[in-house]
Amino acid sequence: MKFGGTSVGKPERMHQVSQLITRDAEPTIVVLSALSGTTNALVEISNSLAQGDRTGAKQKIDKLEAHYRAFVLDLLKEEHTRAKANAVITEHFEFLNIILRISFSEALNKDILAQGELMSTKLFSTYLEEKGIDHMLLPALEFMSVDSNEEPQLGSIKIKLSQLLQQNSDKKLFITQGYICRNAKGEVDNLKRGGSDYTASLVAAAINASVCEIWTDIDGMHNNDPRVVEKTNAIKQLSFDEAAELAYFGAKILHPTCIWPAQLENVPVKLLNTMQPDAAGTVIMKEAGTVGVKAVAAKDGIIAIKIKSSRMLLAYGFLRKVFEVFEKYHTSIDMITTSEVAVSVTIDSDTSLKQIVKELEPFGTVDVEKDQSIVSIVGNEIAQTDHVLQRLFTAISEVPVTMVSYGGSPHNISLLVPSAHKTRMLQLLNSGLFGL
Ligand code: ADP
Ligand code: ASP
Ligand code: MG
Repeated sequence: MKFGGTSVGKPERMHQVSQLITRDAEPTIVVLSALSGTTNALVEISNSLAQGDRTGAKQKIDKLEAHYRAFVLDLLKEEHTRAKANAVITEHFEFLNIILRISFSEALNKDILAQGELMSTKLFSTYLEEKGIDHMLLPALEFMSVDSNEEPQLGSIKIKLSQLLQQNSDKKLFITQGYICRNAKGEVDNLKRGGSDYTASLVAAAINASVCEIWTDIDGMHNNDPRVVEKTNAIKQLSFDEAAELAYFGAKILHPTCIWPAQLENVPVKLLNTMQPDAAGTVIMKEAGTVGVKAVAAKDGIIAIKIKSSRMLLAYGFLRKVFEVFEKYHTSIDMITTSEVAVSVTIDSDTSLKQIVKELEPFGTVDVEKDQSIVSIVGNEIAQTDHVLQRLFTAISEVPVTMVSYGGSPHNISLLVPSAHKTRMLQLLNSGLFGL
């Protein structure tokens, strides 16, 4: 069972979580995120330090500490558990205050970002202790790891986690940190923003769990982005493939790559609402349940790169040369379209954009368009659904679409639009495809 930031962000929510995790007798591993807002605050502290603004960083650290002190006071009622939780807060804020005096590095940044999950799990464990709920805190840094390509090492996670569970076979309830891990150098690292979902799926796959429950602040995966569009509905069932497409192409409810571990071990994933625990939510499993379009999602911050070259473009070997440039800079491509004279691709990171463009220039004219969004239409066998393209393009006829990708997967149609048109596009699709 994984609980996200809002599910642990208030003392009364922690109380609710304690009830949900003790509802049945099945042994359970509970994965917790940081309290809502904490990881954002830690990112800001890190940014201030990276810019050499120690005063700004100190102010932010003090503000965050005050929040935690008040949280402890509200969460716990007994003297000894309050003292214990305050000692935890002191330990972590002492660390944050010490780093104000050390020179900033990427490794230090990762240590800063890890504080949120370390604190939330220790506070929750103290809360369970006060309530007399038997449990054990499992340190994620002892079993969760990524390799030198930042890919989770499922084999090693399996071995280490099962050892830890065997050593504590008398326990039934385990609490661990989402998001954090160790990297190939043995340093503290993380699974990228929203990574607690990834932890949950990896843990579920590692122990071959009966189910992986992702508890959040909404009753499942909706057919459209509820932050952008007014009327949306929860989807009952999605296949792993459909859910993976939605997560990767912007449905924030799931971390972009968190589906594969559950899919690999065929562990069903349920998306559930902590605030409405009896709502059906969404189940993600092998079978899609129904045929047709199920949802749309959008991913922002996309950069389109067009390489235009006459004739030689489709000569064999040309695309390989183009793709090798992206491989060299560890930049993955999301969408591709080709014509006789040009190839267009999209990427979601500008980290190596300058070098990539420089190395592509010998192949032809290179155009770069920033501030684009990919809007994906996801479903089961959508290519075979009657009139799907007609309905799609009729709905969005007024939006300037810059790229279309269709046929790559039977579950996805992706369109590229300038980000300024994304909201309108999602609204038009909501009425055109879902009648909402
Ligand atoms: P948590 O902190 O529990 O991990 P997140 O904020 O990461 O929660 O994810 C839940 C949020 O995802 C919802 O509150 C909702 O605003 C957003 N969201 C975006 N797209 C979707 C979608 N298609 N279905 C449901 N929620 C979505
Ligand atoms: N706390 C981390 C974040 O905010 C991980 C997570 O919540 O999933 O990104
Ligand atoms: Mg999340």
